[in-house]
Amino acid sequence: MTLRPAPISPVIAALLCTGGGHEPAATVQAADSYQQRREAMVTAQIRARGVRAPQVLDALRKVQRHLFVPGDLVDAAYSDRPLPIGHGQTISQPYIVGFMSDLLQIEPDHKVLEIGTGSGYQAAILAELAGTVYTIEIVEPLGNRALKTLAGLGYENIHVRIGNGYLGWPEAAPFDRIILTAAAEELPQALVNQLKAGGRLLAPVGPVYGAQDIILLTKDRSGNLSRRKILPVRFVPMVQKPNQ
Ligand code: SAH
Repeated sequence: MTLRPAPISPVIAALLCTGGGHEPAATVQAADSYQQRREAMVTAQIRARGVRAPQVLDALRKVQRHLFVPGDLVDAAYSDRPLPIGHGQTISQPYIVGFMSDLLQIEPDHKVLEIGTGSGYQAAILAELAGTVYTIEIVEPLGNRALKTLAGLGYENIHVRIGNGYLGWPEAAPFDRIILTAAAEELPQALVNQLKAGGRLLAPVGPVYGAQDIILLTKDRSGNLSRRKILPVRFVPMVQKPNQ
């Protein structure tokens, strides 16, 4: 008689998957009462719309999005929309976080720069995929709160800076990947300069509250740039130009 392992429920399988392979974030986030809602979010909102990379789906299953939203919105944390996080800012819709994280094609040894820390949720997802994450937020109370949330979850591979993202983070450059989570009217030159050869930069670009597109900029091994329009979107605008 052959012994077969007992069938594993998708939820347990997801938990097992998050423990395998690479573990840059070094966090153990215990199963919580929102686990099923996260699983449903991943299946219905993200996987169903074409995001298939297992690492990205695992990160979305693992990171407890409800800990990144204001207390009165916890119940809406896994719904298919952005939510206000104070100071006129929003945590992006889960699908957009999944879509952009997937498109970045992050590898475990990558150094990633994020502009617009906001709640810290996207930074946590990046930290599950990359080696190190640098994230810049211009609104001080938001940056401080994100830092607290991320530290509370045990992330040791995320560096948060309060400052102007237009300038990037020159001391830590170059970056394998760069993601902007606020819209710029033009791709900020300092960020393009801080992208490593062979790197990818993803940014919503376009007029303030107008027709914006997610742009994928790639820099080849010789430093040549190519730019591709990916998806029409509407993000909150980046504030404060480099010379302000
Ligand atoms: N990634 C966030 C959502 C970001 S919303 C999350 O996961 O929750 C966009 C953020 O960009 C806001 O918090 C806003 O304050 C910030 N921002 C706007 N202009 C900026 C700038 N010049 N430098 C850094 N952050 C900026």
